[in-house]
Amino acid sequence: MDHDWLAAAIASRRPFRFGELEVSFNGNQAAVEVPGDGGEMTDVSANPAAVREWTRLDVHGRYRPLSGARGVRRGWQVRCSPEDLPPILEAVYPLAPRHIAMAAEGRLRVEPLDAVLGRQSGRYRAARDTPPDIRKAARDVLCGICVRTPWWDGDPSGLEGAIPCPEPCSVFVSLCRDLTVLDQTPEPVDPDPAVPFATFEEPGNEIRERCLERIRRG
Ligand code: SF4
Repeated sequence: MDHDWLAAAIASRRPFRFGELEVSFNGNQAAVEVPGDGGEMTDVSANPAAVREWTRLDVHGRYRPLSGARGVRRGWQVRCSPEDLPPILEAVYPLAPRHIAMAAEGRLRVEPLDAVLGRQSGRYRAARDTPPDIRKAARDVLCGICVRTPWWDGDPSGLEGAIPCPEPCSVFVSLCRDLTVLDQTPEPVDPDPAVPFATFEEPGNEIRERCLERIRRG
């Protein structure tokens, strides 16, 4: 990433997508929107704490432990000044504006998966032994539904509009751990949206079942 595309877009008042958010400008006012089904949009206060609270739950009403996970609730908007955009965006995707700026300056420290798994301890110690097929399934399935791009996996792609992810997150580590401690790879079952997003030990968890399917397929 050779320039801070986010700062440049805000400075030039150019519309852009930020994960699942659509940002547009009208004169000296900015709008952050997640379109809904065409009905009335809910106005959310231009206050980072209010935006954080509003996006705590996903479209199914479940808590969102992975901030980059696609599936934020729909049909809402925030109006603010262009200068106030970074903290609003950061409220939905923590650290994302900072990571873009650091990547542009060549200061984003990238930590590979081996290093992150290798320092796990306590309950997560088993993640150190995560086999390659589970690592790959976790990378494909979990990172596949995340708005961030896993630079830690040697994928510094998608310059314009990308949100770089510098190291495997705690949800990723937890998924590796929970799949690694399984005795055998069980048969996948139908995903159940009522199972919480990151309860990977529980059959029916959508991410778990998609990973099991991939691992069994080989
Ligand atoms: S490790 Fe993957 S799932 Fe976690 S924040 Fe990074 S890109 Fe998203």
